[in-house]
Amino acid sequence: MLEPHSHSKNPRSARSARRSLLALCLVLAACAARQPGDPLRPGFNVYSKEQDIELGRQAAAEIVKQVDVVDNRELQNYISQLGQRLAQQPESGGYPYQFTLINDDSINAFALPGGPIFVHSGLLEAGDNEAQVAGVLAHEISHVALRHGTAQASKASMIQLPAVLAGVAIGQESALAQLGQLGLGLGVNSLIMKYSRDAEREADALGARIMAQAGLDPIEMAKFFEKLEAQGGARGPQFLSSHPNPGDRVKNVQAELQTFPQRQYTAGSNQFPRMKQLASNLPPPRHRSQAAMAAANNPPAPSTGGFEQLATNRFAISYPSQWRVYGSQDSPVITMAPPQGLVRGSSGVALGYGAVVSYYPARGDLNAVTRRLLSDLQTMDPALRVAQSPRAARLRGMRALVTQLSGRSPYGGGETNLLLTVARPEGVFYVVLVAPEQHFGQAQSTFEQIVNSIQFRG
Ligand SMILES: [Zn+2]
Repeated sequence: MLEPHSHSKNPRSARSARRSLLALCLVLAACAARQPGDPLRPGFNVYSKEQDIELGRQAAAEIVKQVDVVDNRELQNYISQLGQRLAQQPESGGYPYQFTLINDDSINAFALPGGPIFVHSGLLEAGDNEAQVAGVLAHEISHVALRHGTAQASKASMIQLPAVLAGVAIGQESALAQLGQLGLGLGVNSLIMKYSRDAEREADALGARIMAQAGLDPIEMAKFFEKLEAQGGARGPQFLSSHPNPGDRVKNVQAELQTFPQRQYTAGSNQFPRMKQLASNLPPPRHRSQAAMAAANNPPAPSTGGFEQLATNRFAISYPSQWRVYGSQDSPVITMAPPQGLVRGSSGVALGYGAVVSYYPARGDLNAVTRRLLSDLQTMDPALRVAQSPRAARLRGMRALVTQLSGRSPYGGGETNLLLTVARPEGVFYVVLVAPEQHFGQAQSTFEQIVNSIQFRG
């Protein structure tokens, strides 16, 4: 399928290398240049704001079915009013924010793209004052306003989320409904991503501005995060596993604060002690069975029979007719998998068998872009290892690289992934082929047919 080839020097590549080096410098300069007080804006994103909102709305509807929403109007109103006070500030981006308190004594809060924000009751119990809880809300609002969730998905660095995102992106049948038809419950965690430290720094900075605009002391936000950090250890607060500490939080927020107009801040209202008490007196959460979620999953049998073609305006690719496609035409990421290829586990839905097709949004040398893609993939799934370094190949006459990866399969045991990256004028096209290690041999001929079917337009 992929013939090895030897590199040939071509005069254009030196020029384009210089050009991409220049582009890289500009990007780095832009990153390094943010000083406290500088404006914060959403970064590169292939989704529209409307898609953020639609995705968040669908996901939130799914989440409330799976968690124990606090059944206490006073507490829900309190969280909602505190949240709305922050959401109305000019820098919150005008999303349809909604705040929901979940009966769960772990210390956590999370935001979905486009506005839904969930807060665990344990967070109220852990806060020393209202401003600390508000700080977490302002931080979550900032992730929404800066569109960190879909920006991360835009980097196409996730194997797990594309199925969900892609279906929503096309706006036809809901991806969650598709997953429902497959008999998959959607784990909350599959919708919550781990933010990068850069995203955390930005959310702290914007959160501080939003706090200040609402008259709440921004330092309380940073102090609370540092307090959570101090509780540390592997069993530390859940919040920190999706919001990693970017370091020097108090110092950074102080620096940001220096740039705001001077005003008096408060640590919030005196309603807080009562709310904290109400939160700690909640009945035990109604547990959704984790065991039921992790029901036995078995890898699908190798596919037999025909293939069907999916054609977008940039490429066409074939897949076994028993597989389903999540996403189409305009989706930034397309996932193709047999019905049992998406696996339900304690950490949500993962692709255990199938293929992900996308473009990596970076220009430049194929080797360099492939390395960045690999490092993104590893950030999202630290268990991924490069088993065989990238090998040069050709796909329909175009430069390509094939990299073999190993990881942990959501079915249990090892997983083999094959990453194919192809240099195209419109960017680096890639396919990740995923199968459990012990099934990879059987899957190989299907995977080869998929790869051999790829055709580019133009
Ligand atoms: Zn965060």
